[in-house]
Amino acid sequence: MSDMMRILCPRCHTINRVPAARLADGPKCGQCHERLFTGHPIALTVADFDMHATRSDIPLVVDFWAPWCGPCRMMAPAYEQAAKILEPHVRLAKVNTEEEQALGARFGIQSIPTVMLLRGGREVARQSGALDAQDIVRWVRAHL
Ligand code: ZN
Repeated sequence: MSDMMRILCPRCHTINRVPAARLADGPKCGQCHERLFTGHPIALTVADFDMHATRSDIPLVVDFWAPWCGPCRMMAPAYEQAAKILEPHVRLAKVNTEEEQALGARFGIQSIPTVMLLRGGREVARQSGALDAQDIVRWVRAHL
């Protein structure tokens, strides 16, 4: 077992290899020098979703949302807060289902907001409805 972990850059999506013990030390992307963990959820599109879902060694949490959805907008600050708590052991991402309809359809998203936890590209759990930060953190940790 290697203790090197594959972490994708939130900006340029390059796969970086980081020693597991140094994940929390503010590692930066070797390609673009952005911090690999910024404390913010990253917006994923159909172009980069699979990279983050399958090529990273940390689980991916996705918030499926849309700009017109009131509960989604209400949950956004809580989701931001959860990213600060859960990084660098989990990557938090957002998918705008209005712009990325193919992703919403692929996962059969029926209602938003829906949060989904993926590991190695496979869905582990999903939860619909707005959650506060504590509930998001608790829900994610319960499925790790
Ligand atoms: Zn980068």
